[in-house]
Amino acid sequence: MIKLHPAIDNGFPPAKPGFHGGTLKCKCATNPVTVEISSQTAHNHACGCTKCWKPKGAIFAQIAVVSRDNVKVTSGAEKLQIVDPSATIQRYACKDCGTHMYGRIENTKHPFYGLDFVHTELSDETGWSPPEFAAFVSSVIESGVSPDKMGEIRARLNELGLPPYDALSPALMDAIATHVAKQSGALAA
Ligand SMILES: [Zn+2]
Ligand SMILES: [Zn+2]
Repeated sequence: MIKLHPAIDNGFPPAKPGFHGGTLKCKCATNPVTVEISSQTAHNHACGCTKCWKPKGAIFAQIAVVSRDNVKVTSGAEKLQIVDPSATIQRYACKDCGTHMYGRIENTKHPFYGLDFVHTELSDETGWSPPEFAAFVSSVIESGVSPDKMGEIRARLNELGLPPYDALSPALMDAIATHVAKQSGALAA
């Protein structure tokens, strides 16, 4: 069976009621970067884009959002650097192991401003919100996946209960379009 992501391939537990976060740790054996997340995450999903960090060998990333107020670097801050300062999402990665610890949007007009992007599999805690869908599925081809694997990949995602989309999910695409329409005046704010 095709492998997508180690936290997804064998199924995943449901969110734990009352779960309120945990600590993300990079892959460094000594002096890891740690980031404390002080709430449950939302909109967790598999992502096939070429920008999200993926564990070694994984075709997809797993990524969720959380309010930026609930994200705090608790150690190793000096090892963090922004992968691409010109990108919309500023992804803070560990210089030593390359793991992305959080992604942040600084443009206050962006629909997702206020939310940070995090990989909850970097935490030892269980109870995080499980993935709900797969985004940017066709983009895995850009990372070198053969196009003739796409049928198998989409079938496996459906089997896991993760509807595959080639953008974000319809709910998130609608939220973005609503934000844009309110900014332009096409919809009343
Ligand atoms: Zn590291
Ligand atoms: Zn992505």
